[in-house]
Amino acid sequence: MTSIGVFALQGDVREHLQALTRLGVDAFGVRRPEELDRCDGLILPGGESTTMYKLARTFDLLEPLRKRVHEGMPTFGTCAGMIMLADRIRDGIEGQETVGGLDITVRRNAFGRQVDSFETELDFAGLEDSVHAVFIRAPWVEEAGDDVEVLARVHGGEADGRIVAVRQRNIMATSFHPEVSGDDRLHRRFVEITAQS
Ligand code: GLN
Repeated sequence: MTSIGVFALQGDVREHLQALTRLGVDAFGVRRPEELDRCDGLILPGGESTTMYKLARTFDLLEPLRKRVHEGMPTFGTCAGMIMLADRIRDGIEGQETVGGLDITVRRNAFGRQVDSFETELDFAGLEDSVHAVFIRAPWVEEAGDDVEVLARVHGGEADGRIVAVRQRNIMATSFHPEVSGDDRLHRRFVEITAQS
């Protein structure tokens, strides 16, 4: 059985665990290195990336996370989780570090104050029907390396054309929160990536 952990020191862990459980996966929270060792794949949830990185460091998870992700463990980051997987951050706090692994530059809180949170329909690579995407103080991808596949962009408004979902090898990331909409298609795709790796 595929075992997928959800980074659980901070963020919206429960919704991800519920989605994974609906898909028949062995799903559990990851707070300690021993729990990370059990993971075939890992989800880094939404939350607050500055707090996540500090807690990961305090609980001796940051280096083990970097090691596993760079060794190729399938990893899926949503919102703050996308920031955690980015090699480069703009508008981070002073000294903010990431796990890295995705050759992208993200901008934190990129959509601006007026539109802090919003919902929209997105065309998503490989999916027939659009995805209803919920954005909450979300980052966008400002630059993506040549090996990064763009999975979705925002259409319309000031953010027209901004990249909000990417994949590079076994790492997937979205600016939005697929776990809150009850649509399990992106989690299903991640479970498949994990099962095949
Ligand atoms: N703005 C948050 C951060 O910088 C991300 C928000 C979210 O995950 N919903 O980490």
